[in-house]
Amino acid sequence: MLEKRNFTMKQEEKDPKAQRGRKKVLLYKPRKKKSFEEDAAIKYLQGQYEKINPDDIRTFKDFPLSQKTLNGLKANNYVTPTEIQKQAIGYALQGKDILGAAKTGSGKTLAFLIPILENLFCKKWTRLDGVGALVISPTRELAYQIYETLRKIGHFHDFSAGLIIGGQNLKFERKRMDQINILICTPGRLLQHMDENPLFDCSHLQIVVLDEADRCLDMGFETTMNAIIENLPPQRQTLLFSATQTKSVKDLARLSLSFPTYVAPHEQAATVTPEALQQSYITCEIDEKIGILWSFIRNHLKQKVLVFMATCKQVKYTYDLFCKLRPGVSLLALYGTLHQEKREKIYNEFCRKSNVVLFATDLASRGLDFPRVNWVIQMDCPEDVETYIHRAGRTARGVLGKGEGLLMLLPHEEKFVESLKNSKIPINKIAIDPSKVVAPQLKIEALLSDNTELKQTAQRAFVCYLKSIFLMKNKDIFKVQLLDTDAYARSLGLIVPPRIRFLEKYHRQNQYKIDQESQGSNIIDKLKARDDDGAETDQSIEENPEGKKQQKKEIIKKKALPKFDFHNNIDSDEDDFLQVKTKNIQVAEEVSTAEETISRKKSKPLTKTAVAKKILKKKLKVNTKVTFNEEGQIIEDEKRNVRSDIAKQFANEDIGGIDIEKAKEVLQEEDKFDKIRFRQRIKAKHKEEKRKLKNKKKDEEGEKDDFGSQSESDGPDLSWLPDPDKIYSNEDGNNDKSSDAGSSRNEDDTDLDQGSYSEEEKYHRPQKRKLVESKGIPQESIAPRKVKKIQDISASLSVSEVEALAMHLLKSKKTL
Ligand code: ADP
Ligand code: MG
Repeated sequence: MLEKRNFTMKQEEKDPKAQRGRKKVLLYKPRKKKSFEEDAAIKYLQGQYEKINPDDIRTFKDFPLSQKTLNGLKANNYVTPTEIQKQAIGYALQGKDILGAAKTGSGKTLAFLIPILENLFCKKWTRLDGVGALVISPTRELAYQIYETLRKIGHFHDFSAGLIIGGQNLKFERKRMDQINILICTPGRLLQHMDENPLFDCSHLQIVVLDEADRCLDMGFETTMNAIIENLPPQRQTLLFSATQTKSVKDLARLSLSFPTYVAPHEQAATVTPEALQQSYITCEIDEKIGILWSFIRNHLKQKVLVFMATCKQVKYTYDLFCKLRPGVSLLALYGTLHQEKREKIYNEFCRKSNVVLFATDLASRGLDFPRVNWVIQMDCPEDVETYIHRAGRTARGVLGKGEGLLMLLPHEEKFVESLKNSKIPINKIAIDPSKVVAPQLKIEALLSDNTELKQTAQRAFVCYLKSIFLMKNKDIFKVQLLDTDAYARSLGLIVPPRIRFLEKYHRQNQYKIDQESQGSNIIDKLKARDDDGAETDQSIEENPEGKKQQKKEIIKKKALPKFDFHNNIDSDEDDFLQVKTKNIQVAEEVSTAEETISRKKSKPLTKTAVAKKILKKKLKVNTKVTFNEEGQIIEDEKRNVRSDIAKQFANEDIGGIDIEKAKEVLQEEDKFDKIRFRQRIKAKHKEEKRKLKNKKKDEEGEKDDFGSQSESDGPDLSWLPDPDKIYSNEDGNNDKSSDAGSSRNEDDTDLDQGSYSEEEKYHRPQKRKLVESKGIPQESIAPRKVKKIQDISASLSVSEVEALAMHLLKSKKTL
């Protein structure tokens, strides 16, 4: 068998033995001789087909099958064919179209895979012949399972097989499409190849199989399947298999099946479900479900359990929540919105493990052959009897398989049991022992108050469940109006129940219609009537003594029911785990009340549209900024005041939306006024600048007159002049630091002397001003400078006197 899938290639690359083995298969050395032998064998086999009698078949060897197929079956321990295999294989080998119906787990897969291998073998199909057989499955997991079974039993054949399902590498599939002989696929991906891939050619197709045929042909796949069927060659053999087979003439006509052979070995059986499947149901309130499920898991830690729920979101939430609550067993979740790789991994993990709980949607209800499943729990009422059969059929599979099924129903859904019983499904009501039910309610609430993401998942789960109930076809059983939504929300840990917008909208629309048309012949009135019915039934129990009696009867009935045995196998460790939970209860309560107040306070996040709508309703003027001056008068923002007539008119017209053309016109008109406004502003600015400059000049002139008051920063820099204090102090020989006039200067000098300044530097002291400033002495307190005095002295001295003075100064310096 030649595989085309990525992962199988890799597996074989790792295993050189397998590679060698495969090469052997692909070598066609003794081709001519072999071909002759093969021809003879094929002729013999084909000659036997008409003689097949299902009653004579004991083992697979009794069928006229090729040695390669028999070897494949033997290698996988398939010795005795099951009923459906005995009956269907013969007809299929004869080339008849088949409508195969047999219980879940009865071996339908081999019933169509063996004929596929034999059909192509007898036609000496080679890789060059393209697609010879097509198997369509409603889900990826089922397609993968079929593909794996084909790999096993077709191991000794030379055909190539391909698994074509969504979520895989389309490019990889595309390139190899022309080399595939047996194609296992899901409808969507198949159609994609049919539409887009030029290498896809099924014109030589010999045999088409629809596994879970009724599902493939139902409304969900209607358009896709119609398109696929249109592309299939009319000359082909068609096999349909399911546990709940379609007999609809319309479906058969779609497939051009006028006289298919109906093969239903279990038609006369007392039950439609496997005999080894023990089925029971309970009724409980919606808010009890999660506690019951939790308690069930805690009491079945050593078992393999599959739990079905109505929607992906419920599965996701229950999985996330229970993982956090840590029941003490591996948990898994399988649903459609998961990434394909993850889906494959979870599928394989659940197959492999023995103590594990898998939460799943109906994605896992059809065809999947998980080994050794002990329990199937249907947490939500299934859509119809068929779905129930498929879900429950995930256990008690194969020849020796045993298993149990538990269905949880809401009191008003109990009618569903009638349909089950009418369809030959043996199911008994049992009651749950309330002492065994431990709902981790407070812990759930605490977890949610801590974890916003989990809370959002819970909200989605809540809404999606209600939506799924709302959308159910069977309105006799699924009544969204009877659900205690508040209690349900609380059981999920949501203290404030999320808004059920779709329901609100629906009721609003209905109310509007009812107001409009007073006649009540349509569906809305029916729904309203149902609403009233529901209310009445609830009330009647409260008020009507008859109702009370009825209720009492129910309670007595409940008591008489066989108690549901939880097989209490909790060991000491698990008890510890429970104690930890009780410790948290106080905290949980506090957290929950806090959360309640916060969530009440918190308004729900508003969308922009909602805000806009609100504003429109209230006719508020948005984005208006009002500025006040110091006296409290409004300062008008000129920019916001429209000037042009056209703009004023536009503003007064209260029309919804924006007329772009008109708005453009208004803007252009307003632009003219804006330009004028701008020019005025610039002019005013220039004027102001000029005025300031004038004032400054005036001030400067005034300052020049009053030299003493001239600020140091504005006045000319005279710091280059020799320090008069020093000169005078030296000249007078007076070093009195207490002298009033020079006290500050003396301090400065001391500073300077302490440094290593040169003589010249000492006299050229540009820092002096800074020093004065830095000591924080106000400018006014500085004594008027004596610069003028020096100037006067020097002016009155002759050159010789100046020289003498200089000499004197130098001498005095030396003595210092
Ligand atoms: P169905 O499609 O009818 O639900 P499957 O084809 O998935 O059932 O088979 C259910 C289980 O029975 C599988 O595990 C398969 O390996 C096993 N099985 C099928 N045919 C035989 C057989 N002839 N002998 C033993 N086991 C079989
Ligand atoms: Mg099957």
